[in-house]
Amino acid sequence: MKDLNEVISELSQSSNKIERRRPRRTSRSITSGGKRSRERTLSPQERLQRFETAVQQQVVSLPADTKHIRMIPLGGLGEVGRNMMALEYGDDIMVIDAGLRFPEEDMPGIDFIIPNTKYLEERVDRIRGIVFTHGHYDHIGALPYVVEKLGYPPLYASPLTRGILLKRQEEFKTSKKVDITDVRDGDSVKLGAFTVNFFHVNHNIPDDLALYIETPMGYIIHTSDFKFDPDPVNDKPADLNYIKELGDKGVLLLMSDSTDAEEEGTSISERTILENLETIFKESDKKIVAATFGSLLNRVQQLIMLAEKYGRKVIVEGYTMTTNLEIAKELGYVRLPKGLLVPAKDISKYKPEEILIICTGAQGERNAALMRIANKEHRFIRLDKGDSIIFSSSVIPGNERSVQMLKDALFRQNVKVYHYKMMDIHAGGHAKRADLRKMIELTRPKFFLPVHGQFSMLVNHSWLAQEMGVPEENIVVAENGQVLNLNKEEFFITKETVPANYVMVDGLGVGDVGQIVLRDRQMMAQDGMFVVITAVDSRSGKVRGNPDIISRGFVYLRESQELLKDVRKMVRRIVEESTSYEAVDWAYVKNNIRDDLGQFLFQKTKRRPMVLPVIIEV
Ligand SMILES: [Zn+2]
Ligand SMILES: [Zn+2]
Repeated sequence: MKDLNEVISELSQSSNKIERRRPRRTSRSITSGGKRSRERTLSPQERLQRFETAVQQQVVSLPADTKHIRMIPLGGLGEVGRNMMALEYGDDIMVIDAGLRFPEEDMPGIDFIIPNTKYLEERVDRIRGIVFTHGHYDHIGALPYVVEKLGYPPLYASPLTRGILLKRQEEFKTSKKVDITDVRDGDSVKLGAFTVNFFHVNHNIPDDLALYIETPMGYIIHTSDFKFDPDPVNDKPADLNYIKELGDKGVLLLMSDSTDAEEEGTSISERTILENLETIFKESDKKIVAATFGSLLNRVQQLIMLAEKYGRKVIVEGYTMTTNLEIAKELGYVRLPKGLLVPAKDISKYKPEEILIICTGAQGERNAALMRIANKEHRFIRLDKGDSIIFSSSVIPGNERSVQMLKDALFRQNVKVYHYKMMDIHAGGHAKRADLRKMIELTRPKFFLPVHGQFSMLVNHSWLAQEMGVPEENIVVAENGQVLNLNKEEFFITKETVPANYVMVDGLGVGDVGQIVLRDRQMMAQDGMFVVITAVDSRSGKVRGNPDIISRGFVYLRESQELLKDVRKMVRRIVEESTSYEAVDWAYVKNNIRDDLGQFLFQKTKRRPMVLPVIIEV
């Protein structure tokens, strides 16, 4: 038998590999020239600590199971966005969606958050395919970041979703071209033990597909994001009879969209929206600017139809909107009459009442088209008295303030502003409670799992299912990373979990920004940073010249000469006191500077900037 020391040493070696992939601290200092600081050997405690970290990062081994369908939500449960779910039976895994979400306010510099796919990465040879329900980024956005790690599995999507996926993949020049198989309403594909049948439902992007999955345990329905719209624009209503027929065959499990599970009633039909928008077109004798989401293609279609009817040319502004529109037009999902679209630079060739501008930026995003127009920063488009501005989207929680600023900027220019609170010019894409009830009534599932939404939405949806007669013990409210088991008799959360933490994307880096980097950024954002660069004679241990100080977001240096003088004196003292020994431990010296200086600055200013000591040996 090996002794404990051997075991620890092996484990710490293997964990070193993992350690190396972890983010470097931003407070890494430069040590150059002269003698180098010695590599410290790890103490047993440190080794044990590393071992624990390594264990935490290991995936639980879950043996193949043929008694249950194993279901693992990797994202989208307890949050809006980042939707991804794995279904596993025996040696076969199928995945539904691979989405991203946008960062929270306390995550400076983070672009996106994607699911942790470690569980799948370790089982790449079992992944039979990923099916995508629709083209929204919270369902497809993570693909470019994970497709390689998942070994380029077979991908399935409806034509529009596929178009958007391919376009996005193009923007990631680094990754290999992906193959995506076209699937449509009525198609089915076999993914190992699973046969997936796709069927049409309504949403606010065309070509949304719900899933009817045949499994060895029974039938599973996944609603995708959906709503029922009896009178959609440029789309057909969901086939309620078909869904009822599926219910007649016996549905083992229903997974249903919970995003609007806290909203009573049904969603407004797109037909009503169209009629209300038309009123604005009738009344307006100047330019109309309509702002909405770049992905809300159905709304864009409605606006185009109205422009044609009321003799206006259309200018489309905003990157996502332009690309999505191009893809949708090419595939025939949006009808855009020839000659209707004109470039923004030609705006002066037309009278104001001959122009409709469709743009992004209804959430008050800083660099989006509407903000630039409102701030008079747009190259070609200016607002004039009497123009009409339509906000055809709801305000995403968290954006209220920036939308308010945007509105103020617009009102300063004497324009008319219409938003969804004034009249029904926007309908969400998600089923409200009446439609959620209808879905349960049609499918009559034995078991129920609310998906897509914050925890409160999932719970509310689960209560609604109870009201509809699904027994409490047949309903599971789960969170990301939990492992669920399903068979003909039972549906429950097991004790096992898999990693499902946030993987953060910052520029080109995926997952290299961890909690430490994030904490540093939060600190810098709150109290700024304070860098002290000290040149030290490596033989005498004396400070050469005056320490250099760089500060950002902490104090204005020119007005703080007194403080800086004290800081320099202090640094000199700390360095010279701690280098009076034979072997200098530079890490120790830097720690002293960081601690003492941090305390000193707090005493003087009641602020805690991040202190970064840099020592250059000369
Ligand atoms: Zn959606
Ligand atoms: Zn969604």
